[in-house]
Amino acid sequence: MTIVLSEKEKKWMDSVIKEEQITRYLENGRDFIDDEEIWEKLRKNQNPDKQRIREIIQKSLKIETLEPDETAALLNVKDPELWQEIFDAAAKIKKKVYDNRIVTFAPLYCSNLCVNNCVYCGFRRENTVIKRRRLTLEEVRREAEVLAGEIGHKRLIVVYGEHPTTDAKYIADTIRTIYEVKVKTKNGYGQIRRVNVNAAPMSIEELEMLRDVGIGTYQVFQETYHHETYKKLHPEGTIKSHYQWRLYCHHRALEAGVDDVALGVLFGLYDWRFEVMGLLYHARNLEKFFGIGPHTISFPRLEPAANTLFIQESKYKVSDEDFKKLIAVIRLSVPYTGMILTAREPAHLRNEILSMGIVTQTDASTKIGIGAYSDRYTEQKAERQQFLLGDTRSLDELIRELAKMGYITSFCTAGYRCGRTGKHIMTLLKTGREAVFCKLNAVLTFREWLDDFASEETKIAGKQVIQKELEEIKERVPAEVFSKLMEYYRRIQNGERDLYF
Ligand code: SF4
Repeated sequence: MTIVLSEKEKKWMDSVIKEEQITRYLENGRDFIDDEEIWEKLRKNQNPDKQRIREIIQKSLKIETLEPDETAALLNVKDPELWQEIFDAAAKIKKKVYDNRIVTFAPLYCSNLCVNNCVYCGFRRENTVIKRRRLTLEEVRREAEVLAGEIGHKRLIVVYGEHPTTDAKYIADTIRTIYEVKVKTKNGYGQIRRVNVNAAPMSIEELEMLRDVGIGTYQVFQETYHHETYKKLHPEGTIKSHYQWRLYCHHRALEAGVDDVALGVLFGLYDWRFEVMGLLYHARNLEKFFGIGPHTISFPRLEPAANTLFIQESKYKVSDEDFKKLIAVIRLSVPYTGMILTAREPAHLRNEILSMGIVTQTDASTKIGIGAYSDRYTEQKAERQQFLLGDTRSLDELIRELAKMGYITSFCTAGYRCGRTGKHIMTLLKTGREAVFCKLNAVLTFREWLDDFASEETKIAGKQVIQKELEEIKERVPAEVFSKLMEYYRRIQNGERDLYF
């Protein structure tokens, strides 16, 4: 299928892609995903012996990125006992790097206009059942007021399709608008302190614009790393059909000084083992050029979407069992990275995976319709959404369940504002030192949230977690740090906000 573009669209597309910002990273004219090499590694490492797998696990526990052959060996494990060892190690690594914190966020869809025609996506241009809309800045403000002032989110991921009317300037304007929102709450005030962006690949110049308004993480998913499948699913003539423009967008972001970049694939488009290898190659290539790997990795699976038959027909759907395995292998392969599990997944599976102790971030009170938070409708509306969510639990409910599992929900955004990003954060993560800073900030921000937004039931469960955390912190940090923490803690109880280490 080839898409016929209007002259205007064509001109716009040609102005966006800058070949010289790709070619500088190619090696012998090729990108870093060699499909044949990946399959060869997966074949070569079949039937790995126990000893070798245990050595690979030990390497991950030292927070070292794995070699492709090592990840390929993990992906080939068959023995259930060894898988259990992999799951246990994945939980240990997460604890070592991120402790028992879970960070929460919400997606905010600003527009569903899109020039592309990805066959698996409800927002594809040829899908006429979708009601198209781009939020005005006033509407963006209203959405942010509900998210920050009523639900209590501190972090958002703002989402845009690829379209000339949602270019870098529009994205920058929406980020600025969101940062301006400050809403009075029960005890203090609510505001969004970190705006991450999921948007199309951009040029270095455009990414510099976003850097200047204080973008958090720049997240772009490759969807599938397999060249041939990518070509089939992203019709020729669309801007997204340019595989390498997409593949190197994180390189451009890091060049532009956007320190935190996020990777992901859409599992279900191609063989999941290949995709995990693709993520590893991607992380390693970023490390090679910049000494900075991905800040987070996401692993969404295909979900039903309005008028999108491809999803039911895909032969690469990932089962729940394989899903858990791939999450654990990512954790071991890129041990320092944050890992995001979203409300695409049904509540029971999300609880099960969260309780495995591997992931670091998740969303809640999620709505993905355009303008859905301020419109306050409760049912999902397929014709307004990119896909259908599996879990619509509120932030309050999720936090309560996490607290019962022994996790502390962190609303900390201090790291970014203290320069703990990019290379600096990589070192802190690899040495486990970030876990200490974050623990203190997790306690402070969690207390803020409990006072401002929690139901009585959640408050009780949350305070128990805080009590336990304070006891642990007291043992772990110098006396003066603990007394400063307690001073901040009291000030927060009295209505002060945003105190951090
Ligand atoms: S996946 Fe993204 S680029 Fe593709 S059609 Fe959907 S919104 Fe557009």
